[in-house]
Amino acid sequence: MMMDDGWWICDPRSAIWFLTFDSRPEKFLGMSKIPVAILGATGAVGQQFVALLADHPWFEIAALMASERSAGRSYGEVVTWKQPVTLARRIAAMTVRPCQPGGDFAVAFCGLDAAVAGEIEEAFAAAGHAVVSNSRNHRLEPDVPLVIPELNPDHLRVIPGQKKNRRWKGFIVTNSNCSTMFLAMALGPIHRRFGLEKVFVTTMQAISGAGYPGVPSWDILGNVIPFIAGEEEKIEAETRKILGSVEKTVIVPAAFAISAQTNRVAVENGHTECVSIGLRNRATPDQIHRLLGGFKGVPQKLKLPSAPLHPVIVRCERDRPQPRMDVMAEKGMSTLVGRIRPCPILDIRMVLLGHNTIRGAAGAAILNAELLKARQLL
Ligand code: NAP
Repeated sequence: MMMDDGWWICDPRSAIWFLTFDSRPEKFLGMSKIPVAILGATGAVGQQFVALLADHPWFEIAALMASERSAGRSYGEVVTWKQPVTLARRIAAMTVRPCQPGGDFAVAFCGLDAAVAGEIEEAFAAAGHAVVSNSRNHRLEPDVPLVIPELNPDHLRVIPGQKKNRRWKGFIVTNSNCSTMFLAMALGPIHRRFGLEKVFVTTMQAISGAGYPGVPSWDILGNVIPFIAGEEEKIEAETRKILGSVEKTVIVPAAFAISAQTNRVAVENGHTECVSIGLRNRATPDQIHRLLGGFKGVPQKLKLPSAPLHPVIVRCERDRPQPRMDVMAEKGMSTLVGRIRPCPILDIRMVLLGHNTIRGAAGAAILNAELLKARQLL
């Protein structure tokens, strides 16, 4: 039984209950792990799921799924493995399946191409799976939670309404677009304390954000591409939804104004964002620094297995954060903030950085699934 800070566990031999503050009760009781499927397992995000779930204490990879092009062949044969860790032999030998629901897994982690994710996710939710998705298709629907566990875990409250409205046995929970993740993580605590009125954000996004093989080298080497299809609209709408509130059975977006400009740059991993914000109540850079540096949320309180100790890390050097040096902070699960200073047009400006395929995608979905398990929703 999960409590806020630990687990009450009943020893089956003695029938005595005891409290542990270790977040891994399976260590004590040899509890079996929850079987999961990865949809889009061959893609950039799918591979990150495979790497992050290979040794997960609560979840076990039971199925790898992709398009008909890959189905029926071994994962090792069809994947162009780009992760800096060795692909486990057991995983490499698994046969890739087509994306069909109803198998022997409770959770379906989705890293599918958005062109096909919508209907496939709905079919999996209807069949009773918990779909934990990276894709944009359902993110903005008012009865679908768009969750960052540190900021809006209460948005999971719309799940019963979603199941009822759609007559699904399962449900869909989404995580944000990668750039939105780092922006919302930095803005969330500020919005709550000082009230956001206006946000300007300009991104410099890594090539891995475009999937594999992604942007042709001819286009990106020595270059900046000032357009990423659909990205500005996603950042503007998703940030307001995440920082919005649950009213009855739906989520109502926050009311601040936000303008995003997005660029693709020749960086392998890590999205950098330059942000200026206007606040309802005045704040000094020092107050913002202390607020973000000390910020912790529910995943830290519950000690969820993938939770970073510090969801936001504030850097003080004048030339940090930088993707090459900082993107793997806390295994790629933290948002880095630097150069917090006054803005001559709005109030405060700063620079953000985060790992787009870890905290911006697969790692975010896994943390969402851990929260679902902790809240006994799996
Ligand atoms: P990707 O590398 O292009 O991978 C796409 C995956 O979808 C592959 O596994 C592919 O399988 C599968 N797929 C394509 N068509 C299919 C079909 N008709 N039926 C079943 N499976 C099909 O893309 P990605 O970068 O990993 O992105 C995946 C999703 O995550 C997208 O919705 C993207 O917007 C989102 N996302 C990406 C990032 C990032 O940083 N990359 C961050 C946040 C969110 P095959 O190999 O068999 O073709």
